[in-house]
Amino acid sequence: MKIYSIAIDGPAGSGKSTIAKLLSEKLGIIYVDTGAMYRTVAYYCMEKGIDTKDGKAVERALDDIKLEIKMTDGVQHMILNGRDVTGFIRTAEVGQGASDVGTFVPVRDRLVEMQQAMAKKCSVVMDGRDIGTVVLPNAEVKIYLNADVEERARRRLKDFEAQGKTGDLAEVAEQIRQRDHNDMTREYNPLRKADDAVEIDTTGMTIEQVAEVVLKTVHEKTGE
Ligand code: C5P
Repeated sequence: MKIYSIAIDGPAGSGKSTIAKLLSEKLGIIYVDTGAMYRTVAYYCMEKGIDTKDGKAVERALDDIKLEIKMTDGVQHMILNGRDVTGFIRTAEVGQGASDVGTFVPVRDRLVEMQQAMAKKCSVVMDGRDIGTVVLPNAEVKIYLNADVEERARRRLKDFEAQGKTGDLAEVAEQIRQRDHNDMTREYNPLRKADDAVEIDTTGMTIEQVAEVVLKTVHEKTGE
Protein backbone atom coordinates (compact mmCIF):
# COMPACT_ATOMS: atom_id res chain seq x y z
CA MET A 1 0.00 0.00 0.00
CA LYS A 2 1.24 3.47 -0.84
CA ILE A 3 2.41 5.67 2.04
CA TYR A 4 0.88 9.15 2.08
CA SER A 5 0.94 12.17 4.38
CA ILE A 6 -1.63 14.72 5.42
CA ALA A 7 -0.27 18.02 6.77
CA ILE A 8 -2.52 20.20 8.92
CA ASP A 9 -1.30 23.63 9.98
CA GLY A 10 -2.90 26.63 11.60
CA PRO A 11 -2.83 28.84 14.68
CA ALA A 12 -3.65 27.78 18.26
CA GLY A 13 -7.26 26.70 18.72
CA SER A 14 -8.09 26.45 15.01
CA GLY A 15 -9.28 22.85 15.44
CA LYS A 16 -6.20 21.08 14.09
CA SER A 17 -5.98 18.31 16.67
CA THR A 18 -9.73 17.54 16.63
CA ILE A 19 -9.70 17.20 12.84
CA ALA A 20 -6.40 15.31 12.78
CA LYS A 21 -7.70 12.78 15.34
CA LEU A 22 -10.86 12.28 13.34
CA LEU A 23 -8.92 11.72 10.12
CA SER A 24 -6.60 9.29 11.83
CA GLU A 25 -9.59 7.21 13.02
CA LYS A 26 -11.45 7.34 9.70
CA LEU A 27 -8.41 6.54 7.57
CA GLY A 28 -6.67 4.16 10.01
CA ILE A 29 -3.39 6.12 9.91
CA ILE A 30 -1.21 7.51 12.71
CA TYR A 31 -1.81 10.99 14.12
CA VAL A 32 1.38 12.86 15.04
CA ASP A 33 0.85 15.90 17.27
CA THR A 34 4.07 17.90 16.76
CA GLY A 35 3.04 20.62 19.23
CA ALA A 36 3.41 17.99 21.98
CA MET A 37 7.08 17.63 21.03
CA TYR A 38 7.77 21.38 21.45
CA ARG A 39 5.75 21.29 24.66
CA THR A 40 7.88 18.43 26.02
CA VAL A 41 11.12 20.34 25.39
CA ALA A 42 9.59 23.39 27.14
CA TYR A 43 8.38 21.23 30.03
CA TYR A 44 11.89 19.86 30.57
CA CYS A 45 13.31 23.40 30.69
CA MET A 46 10.59 24.69 33.01
CA GLU A 47 11.06 21.76 35.39
CA LYS A 48 14.82 22.39 35.51
CA GLY A 49 14.40 26.16 36.00
CA ILE A 50 15.87 26.93 32.56
CA ASP A 51 14.55 30.14 30.96
CA THR A 52 12.64 29.06 27.81
CA LYS A 53 13.57 32.38 26.17
CA ASP A 54 17.32 31.81 26.66
CA GLY A 55 18.48 30.25 23.37
CA LYS A 56 21.94 29.21 24.56
CA ALA A 57 20.59 27.58 27.72
CA VAL A 58 17.84 25.75 25.80
CA GLU A 59 20.39 24.55 23.24
CA ARG A 60 22.60 23.17 26.03
CA ALA A 61 19.57 21.48 27.59
CA LEU A 62 18.88 19.65 24.33
CA ASP A 63 21.92 17.41 25.00
CA ASP A 64 20.22 16.14 28.15
CA ILE A 65 16.86 15.48 26.55
CA LYS A 66 15.94 12.06 25.22
CA LEU A 67 12.58 12.38 23.53
CA GLU A 68 10.50 9.39 22.44
CA ILE A 69 7.02 9.08 21.06
CA LYS A 70 5.04 6.01 22.01
CA MET A 71 1.73 5.17 20.37
CA THR A 72 -0.55 3.30 22.77
CA ASP A 73 -3.96 2.36 21.35
CA GLY A 74 -3.64 5.18 18.85
CA VAL A 75 -2.85 7.76 21.52
CA GLN A 76 0.46 9.61 21.39
CA HIS A 77 2.50 9.53 24.58
CA MET A 78 5.50 11.80 25.09
CA ILE A 79 8.35 10.04 26.87
CA LEU A 80 10.94 12.43 28.30
CA ASN A 81 14.11 10.70 29.51
CA GLY A 82 12.11 7.52 30.09
CA ARG A 83 9.20 9.23 31.90
CA ASP A 84 5.70 9.62 30.43
CA VAL A 85 4.95 13.38 30.69
CA THR A 86 1.85 13.39 28.45
CA GLY A 87 -0.40 14.46 31.33
CA PHE A 88 1.70 17.51 32.25
CA ILE A 89 2.23 19.34 28.97
CA ARG A 90 -1.22 20.65 28.07
CA THR A 91 -1.23 23.79 30.24
CA ALA A 92 -1.25 27.37 28.87
CA GLU A 93 2.15 28.00 30.53
CA VAL A 94 3.77 25.03 28.79
CA GLY A 95 2.11 26.18 25.53
CA GLN A 96 3.78 29.57 25.88
CA GLY A 97 7.09 27.88 26.75
CA ALA A 98 6.73 25.71 23.62
CA SER A 99 6.26 28.85 21.54
CA ASP A 100 9.48 30.24 23.09
CA VAL A 101 11.67 27.17 22.53
CA GLY A 102 10.20 26.80 19.03
CA THR A 103 11.98 29.98 17.95
CA PHE A 104 15.42 28.32 18.28
CA VAL A 105 17.01 26.69 15.22
CA PRO A 106 18.62 23.67 17.01
CA VAL A 107 15.28 22.78 18.65
CA ARG A 108 13.37 22.98 15.37
CA ASP A 109 16.01 21.06 13.40
CA ARG A 110 16.05 18.23 15.90
CA LEU A 111 12.26 17.88 16.10
CA VAL A 112 11.72 18.28 12.34
CA GLU A 113 14.19 15.44 11.74
CA MET A 114 12.20 13.14 14.08
CA GLN A 115 8.93 14.14 12.39
CA GLN A 116 10.28 13.46 8.91
CA ALA A 117 11.56 10.03 10.02
CA MET A 118 8.08 9.10 11.29
CA ALA A 119 6.38 10.12 8.04
CA LYS A 120 8.85 8.00 6.07
CA LYS A 121 7.81 4.82 7.86
CA CYS A 122 4.02 4.97 7.48
CA SER A 123 1.06 7.11 6.44
CA VAL A 124 0.48 9.94 8.89
CA VAL A 125 -1.73 12.89 9.57
CA MET A 126 0.55 15.43 11.23
CA ASP A 127 -0.47 18.75 12.73
CA GLY A 128 1.61 21.77 13.69
CA ARG A 129 2.76 25.12 12.33
CA ASP A 130 5.34 24.24 9.68
CA ILE A 131 4.23 20.83 8.46
CA GLY A 132 3.11 21.79 4.95
CA THR A 133 5.94 24.29 4.48
CA VAL A 134 8.99 22.62 6.05
CA VAL A 135 8.45 19.17 7.56
CA LEU A 136 6.49 17.54 4.72
CA PRO A 137 6.68 19.88 1.72
CA ASN A 138 5.65 16.97 -0.53
CA ALA A 139 2.63 15.92 1.54
CA GLU A 140 -0.20 14.63 -0.66
CA VAL A 141 -2.72 16.73 1.26
CA LYS A 142 -2.14 20.11 2.93
CA ILE A 143 -4.80 21.80 5.01
CA TYR A 144 -4.57 25.22 6.69
CA LEU A 145 -7.19 25.77 9.37
CA ASN A 146 -8.05 29.20 10.68
CA ALA A 147 -10.73 30.89 12.82
CA ASP A 148 -11.44 34.21 14.58
CA VAL A 149 -9.44 34.78 17.76
CA GLU A 150 -12.65 35.02 19.86
CA GLU A 151 -13.92 31.70 18.58
CA ARG A 152 -10.57 30.04 19.14
CA ALA A 153 -10.50 31.41 22.70
CA ARG A 154 -13.98 30.01 23.36
CA ARG A 155 -12.84 26.57 22.12
CA ARG A 156 -9.73 26.68 24.32
CA LEU A 157 -11.85 27.62 27.34
CA LYS A 158 -14.10 24.65 26.65
CA ASP A 159 -11.03 22.37 26.53
CA PHE A 160 -9.88 23.76 29.89
CA GLU A 161 -13.35 23.23 31.36
CA ALA A 162 -13.37 19.64 30.11
CA GLN A 163 -10.15 19.19 32.10
CA GLY A 164 -11.91 20.59 35.20
CA LYS A 165 -10.09 23.94 34.99
CA THR A 166 -11.51 27.43 34.72
CA GLY A 167 -10.30 30.45 32.77
CA ASP A 168 -11.18 33.95 31.70
CA LEU A 169 -12.23 34.44 28.05
CA ALA A 170 -10.47 37.79 27.59
CA GLU A 171 -7.29 36.39 29.16
CA VAL A 172 -7.32 33.27 26.98
CA ALA A 173 -7.93 35.44 23.87
CA GLU A 174 -4.94 37.60 24.80
CA GLN A 175 -2.72 34.52 25.30
CA ILE A 176 -3.78 33.27 21.86
CA ARG A 177 -3.03 36.66 20.26
CA GLN A 178 0.44 36.63 21.80
CA ARG A 179 1.10 33.05 20.68
CA ASP A 180 -0.10 33.85 17.13
CA HIS A 181 2.25 36.84 17.04
CA ASN A 182 5.17 34.78 18.34
CA ASP A 183 4.53 31.89 15.93
CA MET A 184 3.96 34.06 12.85
CA THR A 185 6.84 36.49 13.34
CA ARG A 186 9.66 34.14 14.39
CA GLU A 187 12.56 34.23 11.95
CA TYR A 188 13.04 30.50 11.42
CA ASN A 189 10.13 28.53 9.94
CA PRO A 190 7.26 30.74 11.08
CA LEU A 191 3.61 29.71 10.91
CA ARG A 192 2.45 30.32 7.37
CA LYS A 193 0.04 28.72 4.93
CA ALA A 194 1.82 26.64 2.27
CA ASP A 195 1.06 27.95 -1.21
CA ASP A 196 -0.59 24.66 -2.16
CA ALA A 197 -2.59 24.21 1.08
CA VAL A 198 -6.39 24.26 1.13
CA GLU A 199 -7.42 26.98 3.61
CA ILE A 200 -10.57 26.57 5.68
CA ASP A 201 -11.93 29.32 7.92
CA THR A 202 -13.70 27.27 10.58
CA THR A 203 -15.36 30.25 12.31
CA GLY A 204 -19.02 29.33 12.85
CA MET A 205 -18.53 25.82 11.46
CA THR A 206 -19.22 22.64 13.42
CA ILE A 207 -16.56 19.92 13.66
CA GLU A 208 -18.73 17.76 11.37
CA GLN A 209 -18.83 20.49 8.72
CA VAL A 210 -15.06 21.00 8.83
CA ALA A 211 -14.50 17.25 8.74
CA GLU A 212 -16.70 16.93 5.67
CA VAL A 213 -14.67 19.52 3.73
CA VAL A 214 -11.36 18.00 4.84
CA LEU A 215 -12.41 14.40 4.04
CA LYS A 216 -13.56 15.50 0.59
CA THR A 217 -10.16 17.14 -0.02
CA VAL A 218 -8.33 14.01 1.18
CA HIS A 219 -10.45 11.83 -1.10
CA GLU A 220 -9.81 14.06 -4.11
CA LYS A 221 -6.05 14.06 -3.53
CA THR A 222 -5.40 10.47 -2.38
CA GLY A 223 -8.44 8.42 -3.39
CA GLU A 224 -8.80 7.34 0.30
O1 C5P B 1 -0.17 23.04 18.85
P1 C5P B 1 0.30 23.39 20.24
O2 C5P B 1 -0.50 24.46 20.89
O3 C5P B 1 0.42 22.19 21.11
O4 C5P B 1 1.78 23.94 20.03
C1 C5P B 1 2.48 24.61 21.04
C2 C5P B 1 3.52 25.56 20.43
O5 C5P B 1 4.56 24.78 19.82
C3 C5P B 1 2.99 26.45 19.31
O6 C5P B 1 2.47 27.68 19.76
C4 C5P B 1 4.24 26.69 18.45
O7 C5P B 1 4.97 27.79 18.90
C5 C5P B 1 5.06 25.44 18.67
N1 C5P B 1 5.00 24.56 17.51
C6 C5P B 1 5.82 24.84 16.45
N2 C5P B 1 5.84 24.02 15.36
C7 C5P B 1 5.05 22.95 15.30
C8 C5P B 1 4.17 22.65 16.37
C9 C5P B 1 4.16 23.50 17.46
O8 C5P B 1 6.54 25.83 16.47
N3 C5P B 1 5.12 22.14 14.23
